[in-house]
Amino acid sequence: MQNRAQTEAVDLVSDSDTEDSEDMTGSEQGDPSWISWFCGLRGNEFFCEVDEDYIEDDFNLSGLSGLVPYYEYALDMILDNEPPQDMMLTESQQELLENAAEMLYGLIHARYIVTARGLGAMLEKFKNVDFGRCPRVLCEGQPCLAVGTSDLPGQATVKIFCPKCEDIYYPRIDYQCSIDGAFFGSTFPHLLLMTYPMYRPPRSADAYTPRVFGFKLHPSAYNNGGSGERGPGVRQIAAGARAGNGGAGAGGGAGAADGAAQQARGGGGPSGSGANATGGGGGARAGGGGAGGGGGAGGGGGQGDEEDMAAGSQEQQHTPPPQQQEQQQQQQQQRQAQQRPGQQAEAAGTSGSV
Ligand SMILES: [Zn+2]
Repeated sequence: MQNRAQTEAVDLVSDSDTEDSEDMTGSEQGDPSWISWFCGLRGNEFFCEVDEDYIEDDFNLSGLSGLVPYYEYALDMILDNEPPQDMMLTESQQELLENAAEMLYGLIHARYIVTARGLGAMLEKFKNVDFGRCPRVLCEGQPCLAVGTSDLPGQATVKIFCPKCEDIYYPRIDYQCSIDGAFFGSTFPHLLLMTYPMYRPPRSADAYTPRVFGFKLHPSAYNNGGSGERGPGVRQIAAGARAGNGGAGAGGGAGAADGAAQQARGGGGPSGSGANATGGGGGARAGGGGAGGGGGAGGGGGQGDEEDMAAGSQEQQHTPPPQQQEQQQQQQQQRQAQQRPGQQAEAAGTSGSV
């Protein structure tokens, strides 16, 4: 924890760099209250300033004396009450007391921000984007709210809640990641949005769709044929994409499925028929079509986007007609000839896929 005297000294130095008028007003108003100082510390941006009236009402603090060490001293520190004159503290005691004051303030804060006044103060911070923005791309920078996953201190650090995707995330600033989540509690953001429903954004309906070479993934896409090796399927797909991107005269051949799809999208007409000629059922195979195994594939050249890779990987186990096998072998040989020795098919696929 930063020592208050030190940070004030730093503040004075930095003030002297700025306009003199600020210095004057600062000295006229005297030292800031402990609460203002604490909320102004770097990393404490999530806290609002709790009204002293609220803290001075014992009813609001019931039960906290058992949770916070040095409770009375901590409370005096928060309220800027002068410590007893005979009280001499060592440095370590001072630090313990400051930690206790922080904890007490945090627990009071958690209670305050679910009152009408507290919600109002936090709404201003929400409008000011003091809690940061949702890191999820599809939430488009939606401002978040602080939330605790537990109401008991010491259980979990504070998180940010995005009202658009209704999920929670770690705060972006490191200093904030160590703040106890109980200083905000599990109720606050939801109560705020219930109290001010006009600030509740429509729930995000967009979902990110993973694609490999333009094809949606089927849930079974991650089961690679039970061979235990992850390699072959991926390599074949990559190789297929490479052949397709090359466009390489593969037009009639099985391997062309991906290329055919691209041609079809590009406005080339007839590739569809070529694909049909290969007769393979799963158009999905298209992606992997070029890939040695997948001759059968072609069916779906034109509609590639709707197909899955996974269907393709099952298709691989079918034996292609002899003609296609020959074509595939030729293509494979051509590809191998093109590749530098030792080059991985995946690497080729990724480099070629852009
Ligand atoms: Zn979000």
